[in-house]
Amino acid sequence: MRVSGNGVDLESVHLLLTYKCDGECDHCFVWSGPQAPGTMSTHHVAEAIEQASEIDTVNSVYFEGGEPFLFYPILLKGVELARQHGFEVGIVSNAYWAETSDDAELWLRPLADLGVSDLSLSSDDYHGEEESVRRVAAATTAAKRLGIDVGVLSVKRVESCEGGEGASDDAGEVFFRGRAAAKLADKAPPRQSSSLTSCPEEPPNIARVHVDAYGNVLFCQGISIGNLRKAPLKTIISSLSPEKHPLIGPLIRGGPAALSEELSVRAESGYADACHMCYDIRSKLRAEGRLRDVLLPDQAYGD
Ligand code: SF4
Repeated sequence: MRVSGNGVDLESVHLLLTYKCDGECDHCFVWSGPQAPGTMSTHHVAEAIEQASEIDTVNSVYFEGGEPFLFYPILLKGVELARQHGFEVGIVSNAYWAETSDDAELWLRPLADLGVSDLSLSSDDYHGEEESVRRVAAATTAAKRLGIDVGVLSVKRVESCEGGEGASDDAGEVFFRGRAAAKLADKAPPRQSSSLTSCPEEPPNIARVHVDAYGNVLFCQGISIGNLRKAPLKTIISSLSPEKHPLIGPLIRGGPAALSEELSVRAESGYADACHMCYDIRSKLRAEGRLRDVLLPDQAYGD
């Protein structure tokens, strides 16, 4: 079924296999950590993939977290199901499992055999410097041996605005949402709230959504557009009017500045970036008990 009549051409579904992570990084978009609840069962993975397959424009499925390798058998089964439905498959990981390149090959070979085509590895100062660099290098070597496309995701350290030990030359900026807003935003130079008039996700173009263990279908971490246990994904996408969504609509019209104005939520005078302002406005809405069915899940807000 093609469901892009509303201008939404969904290309990719990203499964947040778990909010659990072996690490607890300051720059995390959500609040992942060893104790974080919210892990998909095999049934929920299969349900999400099945629903994604009903949308003709979707061509890839990604497995992310948290750290998806923590639930390796579920990850393997999910990759198998996604490949059976003809999806390109990618995985995002911090490579905690890659002690050596030979060990990493043991972890990756079953995934390569199933046809995983993309492996994105997180590595930067926030992931633990030398340890992270060593493991990512081992995983990269193994992935190359197995013919998996591999890339490194890294961000610059906020305090220095320079890449550190683990950051690659083309390291990106931190987006200050989730734990990153709480832990790092005050280290960045403030920007005037009135100047924050666009959203980096660039709505109304919605090429990807994230789906979590609770069935939440997320435009961005903490912004739900529906729940696939209440309505099929194809219905959620086909019935979505981005301009009419209570949060995406204002973001289209004028970024987080419009969010503050249209929803009458007081903004601070300065923010680290657009996401910091967006996260602050959304957190204030939650504190007021507003839009509780949209401001999901709790893990995106550290609750
Ligand atoms: S401005 Fe808000 S919705 Fe847009 S990317 Fe940042 S946190 Fe997400």
